[in-house]
Amino acid sequence: MMDLRIKASAGRFLSLGVSLMSRMISPPSNHRLSRCRLRVARVRSKVNMWRRNGLNTSTICVPGIRSGSSKHQLLGQLGKSGQYADKSASDKMPLNSFVCFFAMRLISILNNCHHFPGFVNESAKMYVESKSIEIDMRARVGSKPVCSCCHRPGPTYDHLGVRRFEFIPFWGFVVFLIYRMRRVDCRSCGVKVEEVPWGCGKHQMTTAYVLFLAHWARKLSWKETALSFRTSWDKVCQAVEVVVQWGLAHRTLGPIQAIGVDEIQYSKGHKYLTLVYQIDAGCTRLLWIGKERTVETFEQFFDMIGTDLTGKIEFVCSDMWKPYLRVIRERCGNALNILDRFHIVAKMNDAVDNVRAAESRKLAQGGFEPVLTKTRWCVLKRNQNLTGKQRIRLRDLLQYNLQTVRAYLLKEQFQHFWNYDSPTWAGKFLDEWTSVVMRSRIEPMKKFARTLRNHRELILNYFRAKKQFSSGVIEGLNNKVKVTMRKSYGFRTFRITEIALYHGLGKLPEPEMAHRFY
Ligand SMILES: [Zn+2]
Repeated sequence: MMDLRIKASAGRFLSLGVSLMSRMISPPSNHRLSRCRLRVARVRSKVNMWRRNGLNTSTICVPGIRSGSSKHQLLGQLGKSGQYADKSASDKMPLNSFVCFFAMRLISILNNCHHFPGFVNESAKMYVESKSIEIDMRARVGSKPVCSCCHRPGPTYDHLGVRRFEFIPFWGFVVFLIYRMRRVDCRSCGVKVEEVPWGCGKHQMTTAYVLFLAHWARKLSWKETALSFRTSWDKVCQAVEVVVQWGLAHRTLGPIQAIGVDEIQYSKGHKYLTLVYQIDAGCTRLLWIGKERTVETFEQFFDMIGTDLTGKIEFVCSDMWKPYLRVIRERCGNALNILDRFHIVAKMNDAVDNVRAAESRKLAQGGFEPVLTKTRWCVLKRNQNLTGKQRIRLRDLLQYNLQTVRAYLLKEQFQHFWNYDSPTWAGKFLDEWTSVVMRSRIEPMKKFARTLRNHRELILNYFRAKKQFSSGVIEGLNNKVKVTMRKSYGFRTFRITEIALYHGLGKLPEPEMAHRFY
């Protein structure tokens, strides 16, 4: 009798398009306690049946049931398989409850962003304790493997063992693509391992992951990148190396109108790198890095770009380092060699600072008032950049009759040099200024004046090039180099430094991806 009544009411609900269970949370107004109890009992028996099948109420609940599953619903879908995972659950076997639901969605996400014709993302498994996800891939039935040598498809020869490719981590889970590599029976190359579109060569990382890591390695330090994505410093380094090698192989070098050459110290001791930049108006980038700063080093750069491109270079900016000047003269004779303004100013500041330091020591030894202590930046900074305090300090200092003060005044006078437009007038100013300095009896300043005289023509080339190549460009690039080196707290080896600098400043092209992961 009771059964019949229930069946009848169930039929009524179904005919309204609502399931029996969903009506249970908002029971009909004419419900009776006895009926309700019966319905709860039926739901409970169903829940027990699901449990026997290894499923959990939270993942299979019908909307509206609040009886058995409410606890898991409150904890969230992840509750059972994530942070509240059963301790006894084996890591070898993924937990079915969450995984079925999760795998299906993960595969559809993957199909949307990382899918290659000829291959199927078949299934996904999640291992809770090792926090990893494995995605099984297989070749589509009837598809032909592509030869890794000649990039042409051929018949399958046999299958190799399973290979794991590391993919971009997903919400804190390490993701691996699992694929059984085939061998191709290639007509022209013989039996070769197939080429897969998501990987490169023998690397264990997928191309997407390599690009992802390299992208972040440009923004963060390599160590921070490794920590952020739960990988090792070596993996980040590998990723950057792959991207740099690809970029170097695919970049276009020419045409180059202007280059700048500079040296930079790296590691401990007197270890230098020669850096060659392109400093055209529309394109500033790092072109080449060489070990040491010798004639042989710099010659390698011209060997690399070849005589055609060398012949088209119009301007070369450099400092006064003799080997560089010699190579530029010999290999790139047609170009105008400009001595970089930045380096001249830096040399002048060195001279002034030497005078100040020596005089400060002398004052201290003679027991005089230490007027020169803490005045370094007062005399080295440009007048307009001084702070209020430094300005007052400088004004006091200028009242003394000191060598430092005279050197400072000479330095300030030399600033006018840069305002000239005509090389002839600039040359006249230079001659006059150097002869004043030579009479000043301040040895470091005299040495600097002699250097200027020796390089007179190269310095005036700055005006001949119509001041196109100001110090700003090379100074900016130099600062970027220093930042890159500092971000890594100093690279120990030349190879790593080279990779990092090319990556940061080379403006190298990158392989195209159908989907941008970052
Ligand atoms: Zn082949």
